[in-house]
Amino acid sequence: MSEAKIIDGKAFAAKVRGDVAKNVAALKEKHGITPGLAVVLVGEDAASQVYVGAKGKATVEVGMNSFEHRMGASTSATELLAKVDALNNDPAVNGILVQLPLPTQIDDAAVINAIAVEKDVDGFHIQNAGLLATGGDAMVACTPLGCLLMLKDQLGNLSGLKALVVGRSNIVGKPMAQLLLRESCTVTIAHSRTKDLAAECRQADIIVAAVGVPHLVKGDWVKPGATVIDVGMNRIPAPEKGEGKTRLVGDVDFDEAVKVAGAITPVPGGVGPMTIACLLKNTLTATCRQNGLEEDRLI
Ligand code: NDP
Repeated sequence: MSEAKIIDGKAFAAKVRGDVAKNVAALKEKHGITPGLAVVLVGEDAASQVYVGAKGKATVEVGMNSFEHRMGASTSATELLAKVDALNNDPAVNGILVQLPLPTQIDDAAVINAIAVEKDVDGFHIQNAGLLATGGDAMVACTPLGCLLMLKDQLGNLSGLKALVVGRSNIVGKPMAQLLLRESCTVTIAHSRTKDLAAECRQADIIVAAVGVPHLVKGDWVKPGATVIDVGMNRIPAPEKGEGKTRLVGDVDFDEAVKVAGAITPVPGGVGPMTIACLLKNTLTATCRQNGLEEDRLI
């Protein structure tokens, strides 16, 4: 059997960003509107600093305004909620993202649910989760949205396919399952209490792994020809690169699975780049909805 097609998330994300940039240019030219994305970072978390920097850069590259708000690690919930309120009321801001995790003195959910629903470009607001589950016009969480775009690009119509989502978090697993259900897949959600994960995987035409356990999904668990989307981002020791070095791996044993699957995303270079691209796409969607414009008809 020939090896799987490796889905190039970097190239696909560049295409999505390119499409967003064209639409942003049209929004400016025809309607005089420049979308604005505000990112709020509380504290000094090193990984969050990198993510926020990358988001700001990508936002400017597609022609949007980027507003970065950095707040100290000792910021109180009241101070952060006041910042969110100000951004909710700022007409130059179409999308708001509060970078998670927040320092322990602040309740993540209270802050997320304080963001105006229509500006919640992360799609984590409880109302957006509810809209997604009930078939409404939700803002959809960026990582699952990116996975869905890749799946549709790869497979076209997903209707009737058996999809297995491994992981049931609010930010990846659950919205991913909802999106696949919306595409008329037959969806199974597996988690840490699932009795026979291998057997569940073997039945699936589509596997989306969002777990956080390196190489959990083995090659012989994958049904021949299945499409495998690996969301996991796990750092493991890489002594071959030198002492103390690490490398990034997914939740799927890529080297084995690539021999069996029909198509598979690598880690890195698969789902990761799509997440920021979908954040920009969501900011465009939010701007259009806030201005009563149809996104499909901008160009
Ligand atoms: P969470 O820790 O919130 O959720 C993990 C899920 O995996 C839980 O539902 C848990 O089950 C399940 N799980 C844990 N162990 C097993 C197991 N042995 N078998 C089956 N299921 C298991 O993680 P996230 O959803 O936030 O993230 C998942 C992964 O995706 C992480 O590696 C993260 O870094 C990555 N990620 C990547 C992004 C990207 O842009 N590429 C964006 C977001 C996340 P239970 O509910 O029973 O505890």
